[in-house]
Amino acid sequence: MASFDLVIRGGTIATAADVFKADIGVKDGKIAALGTIEQKSSVGILNADTFLSGTRSAACGGTTTVIPFAAQHRGMSLRAVVNDALERASKQCVIDYGFHMIVSDPTEQVLGQELPALIRDGITSFKIYMTYDLLKLDDREILDIMAVARREGAFVMVHAENHEAIKWLSDKLIGHGHTAPKFHPVSRPMPVEREATHRAIALSELVDVPILIVHVSGAEAMEEIRRAQTRGLRIFGETCTQYLTLAAEDLDKPDLEGARYMCSPPPRERSNQALVWNGLQTGVFQVLSSDHAPFKFDKTGKFFHSHKPDFKHIANGIPGLEVRMPILFSEGVGKGRIDLQTFVALTSTNPARIYGLAPKKGSIVVGGDADIAIWDPEKEVTISQSLLHDAMDATPYEGFKVKGWPVMTFSRGEVVCENFEFKGKEGRGRYLPRELSPMTTSLGRLPTGFDPVTGVYRG
Ligand SMILES: [Zn+2]
Repeated sequence: MASFDLVIRGGTIATAADVFKADIGVKDGKIAALGTIEQKSSVGILNADTFLSGTRSAACGGTTTVIPFAAQHRGMSLRAVVNDALERASKQCVIDYGFHMIVSDPTEQVLGQELPALIRDGITSFKIYMTYDLLKLDDREILDIMAVARREGAFVMVHAENHEAIKWLSDKLIGHGHTAPKFHPVSRPMPVEREATHRAIALSELVDVPILIVHVSGAEAMEEIRRAQTRGLRIFGETCTQYLTLAAEDLDKPDLEGARYMCSPPPRERSNQALVWNGLQTGVFQVLSSDHAPFKFDKTGKFFHSHKPDFKHIANGIPGLEVRMPILFSEGVGKGRIDLQTFVALTSTNPARIYGLAPKKGSIVVGGDADIAIWDPEKEVTISQSLLHDAMDATPYEGFKVKGWPVMTFSRGEVVCENFEFKGKEGRGRYLPRELSPMTTSLGRLPTGFDPVTGVYRG
């Protein structure tokens, strides 16, 4: 009889494939057995968050692995950015972590040397932007990056919004005195997201490389992804908690209160939420993420540029790491929109597979890391900032009622949160170099006989 360091008994286990009753035996931080287990022993602009507060918040919301961004700013070397992030993360993270690389300056050096070297070191995905003055890449630069991804087997995530159209609309709005936060969604309407989504997919098709469209806000962009999938392309979609729960009208609040709900793409009209749910139900979306971007309601965060800014000069982003799983569980599983397996797939298993962390992460399986959230499906919680563990001053979900909460979270067999109380140790999280995922390799489908990566033409 094996002896375990930890036995979790009497629970219902949910994986992306199955829901079943069994005990879990943990040895050396890994799941050693599932079944009926005889008990031998047991042990019990300024981003507001640091790696410590961010991962503490994730852990208390039932999330056991995070992949934050390491962001290159123009002129910086990728290696320096990653080394700096690793240095801080290794001292602070309380759960395991990897990084997505944000590439904003695809120089010859970056494309030819730095990016391939980082991919080989386990940073196998990168995010690129089609908007924001300091981050945006033009179509040629996007193609260059996609070609590196195809050659190296890595994975590109795209923030898809049409930069010039947003700028033009913003200038018109502000020029006519329409400066309040409620004009933020007016400046970034659905067509700018739909067009960029379509363009990103078309560019990826030319290179024959799978991509993921991140934080899809609404039906029309979603339909572009669905169409591409129907055509047989390997295009992945991600949406976020805010597009299921918030709406453009939330930005229409007196003074600057609406700024609390500002993110990009913006939340759409309320009727759009049902359509995004449909995308989760029918498999258009594989990933449900937080896009956690916490900016406080003060001059360090939202109002960094000015104390009385127009919408263009308010920091974009909302927090949501800790409430991601409780809200999806309550609104999704609790209200019969998705089943428990789909909940696990969207929040854990699919991201682990797509980002090259499976089978170590993402499921409850013998040999996998004992990363487990114990869920009380009946626990009723009114979300309030005072319950959360990030470093924010407020949550856009204040007063939101959910049923179901992760009452205990284990990371590699160690309790990191219990009944809202953080119990992990700073710096215990481990860096996860990631594999290239077989889910994201190219399909060998070029629209013409020309392969721009190899230069071969087969007409
Ligand atoms: Zn983004």
